[in-house]
Amino acid sequence: MAEAEQFAAVIVDAPGLGALDYRVPEGMLLAPGDRVIVPLGTRKVPGIVTGLSPVTEVPAKKLRRVAAVLSDTIPLHAEWLALTRFAALYYQRGWGESAVPALPLFMRRAPGVRHESWLKKARAIGPAGGEPGPRPQLNDEQAEACRQVLASGGYVPWVLFGVTGSGKTEVYLHLIEETLVRDPEAQVLLMVPEINLTPQLEARVRARFPDELVVAMHSDFPDGERARSWLAVHEGRARVLVGTRMSIFASFRKLALVIVDEEHDTSFKAGDGLRFSGRDLAVWRAWKNRCPVILGSATPSIETWAKVRKGDYKLLTLTKRASAEATLPAIRLVNPNRKGARTLLTPDAAAAMEATLKAGRQVLVFLNRRGYAPVLSCPSCGWVSTCRRCSTFTVFHKGAKRLVCHHCGWQTGIPPACPKCGDPDILPKGTGTERIEEELAVRFPDRRVLRIDRDSVSTRHEAEEAFRRVHAGEVDILVGTQMVAKGHDFANVGLVVVLNPDAQMLSPATRAREQLFATLMQVAGRAGRAGAQGEVLIQTRFQDDPLFAALARQDYVAFADAVLEDRRANMAVPYVHQAMLYAEAKSLAEAEFFLTEAVEIGMREAPPEVRIYDPVPMPLMRLMNVERAQLLVEADERPALQAFLARWRQSLRARAGVEWTMEVDPLEA
Ligand SMILES: [Zn+2]
Ligand SMILES: [Zn+2]
Repeated sequence: MAEAEQFAAVIVDAPGLGALDYRVPEGMLLAPGDRVIVPLGTRKVPGIVTGLSPVTEVPAKKLRRVAAVLSDTIPLHAEWLALTRFAALYYQRGWGESAVPALPLFMRRAPGVRHESWLKKARAIGPAGGEPGPRPQLNDEQAEACRQVLASGGYVPWVLFGVTGSGKTEVYLHLIEETLVRDPEAQVLLMVPEINLTPQLEARVRARFPDELVVAMHSDFPDGERARSWLAVHEGRARVLVGTRMSIFASFRKLALVIVDEEHDTSFKAGDGLRFSGRDLAVWRAWKNRCPVILGSATPSIETWAKVRKGDYKLLTLTKRASAEATLPAIRLVNPNRKGARTLLTPDAAAAMEATLKAGRQVLVFLNRRGYAPVLSCPSCGWVSTCRRCSTFTVFHKGAKRLVCHHCGWQTGIPPACPKCGDPDILPKGTGTERIEEELAVRFPDRRVLRIDRDSVSTRHEAEEAFRRVHAGEVDILVGTQMVAKGHDFANVGLVVVLNPDAQMLSPATRAREQLFATLMQVAGRAGRAGAQGEVLIQTRFQDDPLFAALARQDYVAFADAVLEDRRANMAVPYVHQAMLYAEAKSLAEAEFFLTEAVEIGMREAPPEVRIYDPVPMPLMRLMNVERAQLLVEADERPALQAFLARWRQSLRARAGVEWTMEVDPLEA
């Protein structure tokens, strides 16, 4: 008797497609979670088996066969399939669109000739070995936080709220250690922001667990390295994965603890593709695995804080800086120079710098704008330098002698005279880090100034080298953007000067204040970490703003509670739930036409509790010669929004020349 026929449901990475049925060739053994190669149209594509059945509704002549099974490792785990399925439903994509791209390229290709030897090498990686690194004594607060987490069973979302330097990492390491000891098969995921996943952090975790395999995943890694880490976690050989947001899609055998450090960091939200939040999926995953999840931050996101206040998340607080002699810095607000002044640095700031440098300590000057000046302009006719492809200015980079678009990378040389009226005296307007570096070199000719931003250091290793020079005392004044605010402890920085927070104070974006507060708290945390008290000097016109009062007291709770009150009064996130529909086309009219039609379709289907707003051009309307518009959808209750989006997405009508995409929980609304 012939063997009974079998059909495999396979998901592939193609928009709008559900699982497709394929015939399983005789003799091929398949299980759910197997990676396969299947024909799709005229191509062969990678897919994942989600189910097997003896029957299919697809007519026999339309059925095609599974071309190959990638049997180099065990099938994807059921929990991983559930995760990608949930992510697809939540973020409004096809299951295959969330699952297939989540695999390293290496794991979704038909194996080449060197695959076997690669696998052998990949499986040969082992623990670091050697003596375990130092285990500092936990202080009372740290010990109490660990005790509470370890005493809880099953899924509990914790917020580990602790000021910079309060020793959150030590709490993580202690929890990881206990988790690994309690269950010899347990695995831990430690997620950190892009910029924080440094070789030092990796080394610190490895040194702490010399007998366990600790692997890392970073978007900078070449695919082979990523695949090696992925495989080690998937096969249960790695006990700890340290990674950026992409690591949330690693396939674990037995996930027993999830930690998200700096949970407020916006790099956990993907800006393209599935547009997922790694932090939010981390919480879901802990729930699914019935294990604790720790969200750590000195300035939790407002969404997270709302859940603490509501009682959904439990709060653990670290109030003391871990090192006994470290004290909070003093915060001083000063008026900026009047408009049109030749320098950005005020006399107050210069004097404070002088004093700090004389005392043998370093100064950090923070300005969140790279380049020399944000724009070149002509005083005679008002011409300003703009990008040829985007609706934005080009930034003047003096060293490189270029005008550069920071959105699309388009660049051009410096015109010798105004292109419009011919006036040769075109001038840089405003100040970026490059200009401040120049100003400081003139103001402090005997001091060594180092600038750290994406222009001066472009790779992880260049950044490491720059930070090493600061630590080694080869630098007196450090100038930098966001890059220096995060994750780096500068023991000898005695003064932090914040030059122009006002640009962000004036931003209309919902989260601008929250993000500014987090950044300033982080920058302030760079001062005064060893011994003597540090000082933070902020140049701002908004000295009466409660944001600065809270900052001066380092009082996140007061700030966050006030923001929550404000959001509640204005019915803003997190008290409403949002999604955005984006459309891109050659002309704005086409993009807006698509969205207008989408509004009409939506109005017919939306229940009264779902609000659909009018289409508007995106804040950056033209990007790389593509015109962009957006449309906001909002509901007070999450289920109403999600149900509507799922129906709406199916009924949107494609238009030639218009690309559209949906984003759930957009950060910029
Ligand atoms: Zn001109
Ligand atoms: Zn551009």
